[in-house]
Amino acid sequence: MLWSVYRFPRGLLRLLFAYRLNVVALDADEYVFVDVDARLSCQGPNGTTGGRSMFTNDSEAGSTRWPLVRVQAGGETEIVVCGSRFLPLTTHWVGQTTVCAGDGCALCDVLPVRGLFYLPVVCGSRPSILELSSTSASHFEQHCKLLHGGIRPGLVVRLSRRGRKQPVYSEVVSCIETASTVPLLDFVGKVMILFHFPGPNPGEDFPSYETRLRAMVLLRADRERRRYESRSSAGLSGR
Ligand SMILES: [Zn+2]
Repeated sequence: MLWSVYRFPRGLLRLLFAYRLNVVALDADEYVFVDVDARLSCQGPNGTTGGRSMFTNDSEAGSTRWPLVRVQAGGETEIVVCGSRFLPLTTHWVGQTTVCAGDGCALCDVLPVRGLFYLPVVCGSRPSILELSSTSASHFEQHCKLLHGGIRPGLVVRLSRRGRKQPVYSEVVSCIETASTVPLLDFVGKVMILFHFPGPNPGEDFPSYETRLRAMVLLRADRERRRYESRSSAGLSGR
């Protein structure tokens, strides 16, 4: 993938792109590449940005990973809400959590489903993804709804959990009025990156990203089903 290029030492990176610059200059001399803090952007001669080139990515491509916030038994943490509703996701357990594709999912016939709920938050000053079970998410939502007019950006929530089988307890402790909302498409991309799927491409809208993603989720579900069946048959023949 393109962003793996950024792991090269900077000197080598310059060499690579100096070579690339020559090649591009022959093909389309109206464009020059500008190196800004190891990110490349493509500019026309009058300083305007051109269409998508191979070297536009990074900030919009959603390739960076946001940490996941889970509240362990006996744990306590504080988060700032950066969304107005949970993103619900149906999952299966295949030794790790994998996304259910919905209609046509090959895993639904053989494995139970589990609903997980995700919310964009800031935790420890970093943009993060809060993950809650359906019971914990329902408690969170009801608390915000009854006492604070619903889930909204800026609510500072203290989350705690007494035991492993206990749901997460949530309590709004204050509010930051200037907090803003993470756009839905960006957030869906961040959640999908957790599951090792790509985020949305620059300029891609929600329906086309969803269509592309669904095809990939279906393929992975097929692969996981075959793995599940080969494990099951190996288990039976070993008896
Ligand atoms: Zn499924």
